[in-house]
Amino acid sequence: MAVWQKHRFTAIIENMVEKVIPIRIDEGNGLKPSIPGQLIAPHGHTKDARGRTLRDLRISVTDRCNFRCTYCMPKEVFDKNYPYLSHQELLSFEEITRLTSIFSTLGVEKIRLTGGEPLLRKNLELLIGMLADIRTPAGKSLDLTLTTNGSILRKKAAELKAAGLQRLTISLDGLNDEIFKKMNDVDFPVADVLDGIAAAQELGFQNIKVNMVVKKGTNDHEIIPMATHFKNSGVILRFIEFMDVGSSNSWNMAEVLPSKEVIARINEVFPLEPIEANYSGEVAQRWRYVDGSGEIGVISSVTQTFCHECTRARISTDGQMYQCLFANQGYDFKTMLRSGHSNLEIANAIMNTWSHREDHYSEIRGSHTANLSTGNRKVEMSYIGG
Ligand code: SAM
Ligand code: SF4
Ligand code: SF4
Repeated sequence: MAVWQKHRFTAIIENMVEKVIPIRIDEGNGLKPSIPGQLIAPHGHTKDARGRTLRDLRISVTDRCNFRCTYCMPKEVFDKNYPYLSHQELLSFEEITRLTSIFSTLGVEKIRLTGGEPLLRKNLELLIGMLADIRTPAGKSLDLTLTTNGSILRKKAAELKAAGLQRLTISLDGLNDEIFKKMNDVDFPVADVLDGIAAAQELGFQNIKVNMVVKKGTNDHEIIPMATHFKNSGVILRFIEFMDVGSSNSWNMAEVLPSKEVIARINEVFPLEPIEANYSGEVAQRWRYVDGSGEIGVISSVTQTFCHECTRARISTDGQMYQCLFANQGYDFKTMLRSGHSNLEIANAIMNTWSHREDHYSEIRGSHTANLSTGNRKVEMSYIGG
């Protein structure tokens, strides 16, 4: 029996959705900030104030990383004095599994583990095994995926697959070592990430995605080499617009290369045609090479917003629920998990929180957001999960 199987967590929430017991979520249940006492009850379809259903959950399993990507964890801020969370502050694997089980009863079907660098969390394969055992009310397993910088993927890929990980996204910002090292800012070579991708392919992971954050003037001339490299490889390359996440990455609009421009540049060399989304709310717009040599995607969070279809909630490393990547406050579910609340009470609290969700940051972003760091600090991406 594999090690992770011995540690299986049997999170069973039998008939939870049927046993409807309304609760007031502002009465000493640890939710902060509290939402004025509204009575609600789970019903299995969780819509927010703008009619968006809760479907996806991103879970940050660590706020630490071995890279210092300048657009995410710049060295000057994330130095040795940075107040990373202590081990006790992190949600345990049992807590993550319990919370995920509860979310799955509320309609969540897709889980993405992220960070920080998720593969730095010790024994992550145990958590994956535990999450792989969860069944939705319809008896389905969850769509379980992970985003990684690929640095230790060669070492970990087989364990992750054996534990039940279904899909993988690997980040890589270029093929030129000098540029990539400048962006990860820890001198990490391209070849090792490519080797991690190769390991995942050898193990039979399907539909592997590679994320490239495009910063105009820094790595935009890597777009064509990256497209050329991943054409015909079965890997789906996705170009992400440089975003104003967190409060420390010195974002400015002048460094954003609109996705339209990315598509135009590739189309000039390798003709492209648009393809339908796989499902409503898909983050990336899909394109395929006319010659049949593969698919690419663009994530245009800055220039073509998609908040109206956003079905994602996030759980930070220490168990706060965030309802938007650009939020500046979370809701404390760790305290609920650690203070004897029932699954039903937690489910009620999640639904209540989601039902008040108004977030649509990208739709109201202005070029002034670069200055939000004064007074209205957004939470860092490494903590909330990218
Ligand atoms: N460490 C892992 C990795 O890099 O894949 C997972 C966490 S990382 C925060 C998740 C994704 O967010 C990565 O693909 C990364 O490139 C992307 N990302 C981070 N900061 C970004 C920014 N400012 N704009 C756009 N994407 C960003
Ligand atoms: Fe680390 Fe990923 Fe952020 Fe880069 S993007 S610093 S690899 S968490
Ligand atoms: Fe979703 Fe917030 Fe991004 Fe809009 S800005 S798509 S609401 S995470």
